[in-house]
Amino acid sequence: MGTNQYDVIVVGARCAGSPTAMLLARKGYKVLLVDKATFPSDTISTHLIHAPGLAALKRWGLLDSLLATGCPPIHSYSFDFGHFTITGAPGTDDQPVSYAPRRTVLDKLLVDAASNAGAEVREGFNVADIVIENQRVVGIRGKSRGGQPVTERAPVVIGADGRHSVVAKAVNPGQYNEKPQLLAAYYTYWSGLPLNGRFEAYIRPYRSFAAWPTHDGLTLVIAGWQFSEFEANKRDIEGNYHKVIDLAPDFAERIRAAKCEERFIGAAVPGYFRKPFGAGWALVGDAGYNRDFITAQGIQDAFRDAELCVTALEATFSGTLSFDVAMGEYQSTRDRQVMALYEFTAQLASQQPPPPELQQLLGAVHGNQEAMNGFARVNAGVISPADFFSEENVKRIFAAAAR
Ligand SMILES: Cc1cc2nc3c(=O)[nH]c(=O)nc-3n(C[C@H](O)[C@H](O)[C@H](O)COP(=O)(O)OP(=O)(O)OC[C@H]3O[C@@H](n4cnc5c(N)ncnc54)[C@H](O)[C@@H]3O)c2cc1C
Repeated sequence: MGTNQYDVIVVGARCAGSPTAMLLARKGYKVLLVDKATFPSDTISTHLIHAPGLAALKRWGLLDSLLATGCPPIHSYSFDFGHFTITGAPGTDDQPVSYAPRRTVLDKLLVDAASNAGAEVREGFNVADIVIENQRVVGIRGKSRGGQPVTERAPVVIGADGRHSVVAKAVNPGQYNEKPQLLAAYYTYWSGLPLNGRFEAYIRPYRSFAAWPTHDGLTLVIAGWQFSEFEANKRDIEGNYHKVIDLAPDFAERIRAAKCEERFIGAAVPGYFRKPFGAGWALVGDAGYNRDFITAQGIQDAFRDAELCVTALEATFSGTLSFDVAMGEYQSTRDRQVMALYEFTAQLASQQPPPPELQQLLGAVHGNQEAMNGFARVNAGVISPADFFSEENVKRIFAAAAR
């Protein structure tokens, strides 16, 4: 049995877990951060980070270190609907460009930041069980590679351990607003395919693809189709990937002149919300909330959860609020902030052609730079779809198009 006593144990050390551990350690709490992975290591993710995620890294003093790794900036997002292309600036005044750092780089930076802040980090540590006594989570049981099983105890155990969270499984928090898998997509990396600071998406009926630059002069290209085609199409992933790209002949020509540098990675994920707290436990990141990856929100969502959860825990530890009230605020803020984008994301992930009224609106957006920036910012999670598609804004866009 381990003898250490921590204020908080965090399971999972990527986008949600490392910032949570870092922020708690910076406030002076005794934190144990464990992950079965070792770092640097890759994970399934296309790693595009929009302005809100980058703003979090800046608040934490980590953005400059990330940029020093040579990650190329992305200054415009374009959406090619076949008949027209909407091109807009995705960022904010403070953070005008996006970046897509490899997870080998980003996650290592985050784990190191947690360690530098004073969290005890155990890499290669697999959590097998959550220890529950008198209906309260009191610790974890697991082991390092080749090591003996140990138990570590803390008043709060945080599951930052992704979609298949062992913490969530143990506490069974229940899910709400669930969505099935809607999109099946595959990605890989190409050299000799310069994007010159652009994110390019190509939307065609029932399929789409997108491309953006990352480290080492590589371009990530992801192509997808409806989940109903997953079984049939997985027999020839590469052929079907190129069939989607062939729907945009100019891009198809560019990719034919490029070189594929890595293997194809595929994914299809469900959407859900989980209650993110209970007696002795909390959930952050994908462990507590998941949405389709088509709008690339997961990293900044994880960062937001880390800040909200730490704020709630601090209010509890300092005696300002009860655990349930503080954590209830975390949950309601999270849900309120993401709900409109969650629905918009599911609509895009369904790969259904935009309904006629949306097609009309997008036609009116096209050519109106302010509206095109707005559309790019909706996709970046900078502006809420509820605001962009509000009656007032839609009227304004149609009025400008009629002039
Ligand atoms: C195909 C795809 C593309 C995506 N593209 C983007 C994108 O472009 N931009 C974006 O913002 N988001 C994207 N996402 C989403 C994003 O990757 C996730 O939202 C994000 O990684 C969530 O971070 P997390 O820390 O919650 O979980 P994870 O990144 O899943 O990390 C969980 C960690 O927990 C550890 N762990 C799990 N179980 C245990 C255990 N029992 N013991 C110890 N450790 C454990 C794992 O080893 C892992 O390191 C994409 C997702 C997919 C599937």
